[in-house]
Amino acid sequence: MNTGIVWLRNTLRLSDNRVLIESLNSTKSEAILPLYILNKKKLSLKNNNNRVQFLYESLIDLDARFKSKFNTGLIILNGNSEEIFRKLLEYNLLNISEIFTDYSNKPNDVENGKKIKHILSDKNSIKFNIISKANTLTNIEEVVNQENFRPPKKMKEMEKLFSRIFPKGESNFYSVDEPLEIPEISKPLPDNYIEAIDDYIFDIQKELALLKENSKSYFKGGESEALIRLEKKVKSEEKYIRNFRKPRTISTNNPNNPSEPETTGLSPYLSFGCLSPRLLWKETERCYRNGDHTQPPESMHGQLLFREMFYILSKSIENWDSDTNNSMCKKINWGEYDSNKMELWENGQTGFPYIDAMMRQLDATGWMHHLGRHAVSCFLTRGQLWQHWKKGRDVFEKKLVDADWALNNGNWLWLSGVAPFSMPYFRLYNPCPDGKSSLNVETKKAEFIRYWVPELEKFPSKYIFEPHLAPLPIQESVGCIIGKDYPKPMVDRKLVAKENLAKFKESLSILN
Ligand SMILES: Cc1cc2nc3c(=O)[nH]c(=O)nc-3n(C[C@H](O)[C@H](O)[C@H](O)COP(=O)(O)OP(=O)(O)OC[C@H]3O[C@@H](n4cnc5c(N)ncnc54)[C@H](O)[C@@H]3O)c2cc1C
Repeated sequence: MNTGIVWLRNTLRLSDNRVLIESLNSTKSEAILPLYILNKKKLSLKNNNNRVQFLYESLIDLDARFKSKFNTGLIILNGNSEEIFRKLLEYNLLNISEIFTDYSNKPNDVENGKKIKHILSDKNSIKFNIISKANTLTNIEEVVNQENFRPPKKMKEMEKLFSRIFPKGESNFYSVDEPLEIPEISKPLPDNYIEAIDDYIFDIQKELALLKENSKSYFKGGESEALIRLEKKVKSEEKYIRNFRKPRTISTNNPNNPSEPETTGLSPYLSFGCLSPRLLWKETERCYRNGDHTQPPESMHGQLLFREMFYILSKSIENWDSDTNNSMCKKINWGEYDSNKMELWENGQTGFPYIDAMMRQLDATGWMHHLGRHAVSCFLTRGQLWQHWKKGRDVFEKKLVDADWALNNGNWLWLSGVAPFSMPYFRLYNPCPDGKSSLNVETKKAEFIRYWVPELEKFPSKYIFEPHLAPLPIQESVGCIIGKDYPKPMVDRKLVAKENLAKFKESLSILN
């Protein structure tokens, strides 16, 4: 019996899973071995517990979904993918005839893919299938290799590019493919598979239980959760989706739940591939079909177009994650790395309650509203602290439960003011926002600040965004002395902003 290996990397779902569907439809194999390979040591070095927990929950959910649909589970292995494939292929106990995996241009995946290709180089009978459009709407390779391809630098250019690939049809909707159904066909696991992988089997339930002991994580991983959230935030909220305007959404979350996003909160599921972007696109379109709706860049489709744009740029722009030889990154003479500044920012101890609340939410739950991300990244870079965007990017990569290489780099380039798609560098966010701020902050009750910065729980709303301005008797009456119970602002925000803008301007004229 020939076996097809289904190596799932960024598609932890059954629905619209092209990797799985191709493997089931293939006539070259009668059995399949669905695999996820993780490297526990590297995983916990590179990610905080929220991300690891989300991954484990997603894998356990996928295993259960495999079992209920196909009667076979997902095989989760701990080890080095190169070593595991070498071992699988050495005696080829499983008669492997083909391998399927999702297309990915993340540096790690590219590196691992190359190693597997190398192992296969003298095994001509085994086909290595990299399945495109597994986690994006477009075929990224095909897009960037088009003859007239120009990297899109703004939404209008992205929409033009998108309409060439998916020409608008009836009712002016892009002809994006329908998500693929979970197939009814199934294939068994190969008979002797345990023998081949025994050394690497990972006891994921035990590992998850250990992680959960101290967890404050908010988002539960898995396709089942993704579909529940899709129903709750999109399918049953047609009016909200039709009227969705991203810059109008509240950055301080749901008033009754300081961890629940005002936006969909689907990003962790998209990032791990628990949810297909095509499914979200089409469910949004279904809402749009019932009446007037907003347009890109602010609309829900606009958000997915930004996602697609950053995937396309991350493939077409060399050194996407670097500040050198990256055509989307202006040279700026950023300040020396300052570990003290970085620590205060990362730990939510800057003395700016809005910034601290956001950073503490990130640490506890792995998520932060888009405008919160705007504020803290601007504060760290061109706004107040004059630290390199790559340092902030690294903190996000480790802590965000939705961390995504293409999107995280793209957005840090955007917010630090160095990219052609950045807003003008001199437009800064005030880290002490009032009710009129474009950061859309709930300032009357300021529950978000009270929850995430409990030192300020009893502070009057009038002073809570700049508590050091409260007269001492007020500080005493609420039992929180600024400088003792909560830090004083780490910088004079107006003074440093002025200095930093001058430095940015100078870098632009000298270095670019
Ligand atoms: C400095 C910075 C770093 C960021 N890093 C990441 C990251 O690592 N991973 C990530 O998924 N998003 C990142 N974003 C983009 C954005 O903040 C999140 O996608 C969004 O807040 C997720 O919440 P949501 O799912 O409720 O979004 P919604 O508003 O409901 O949007 C739906 C989906 O559209 C996509 N999307 C929305 N905004 C953007 C955007 N600006 N760029 C690209 N795609 C977008 C996401 O996949 C999102 O889940 C970053 C933004 C900034 C400013």
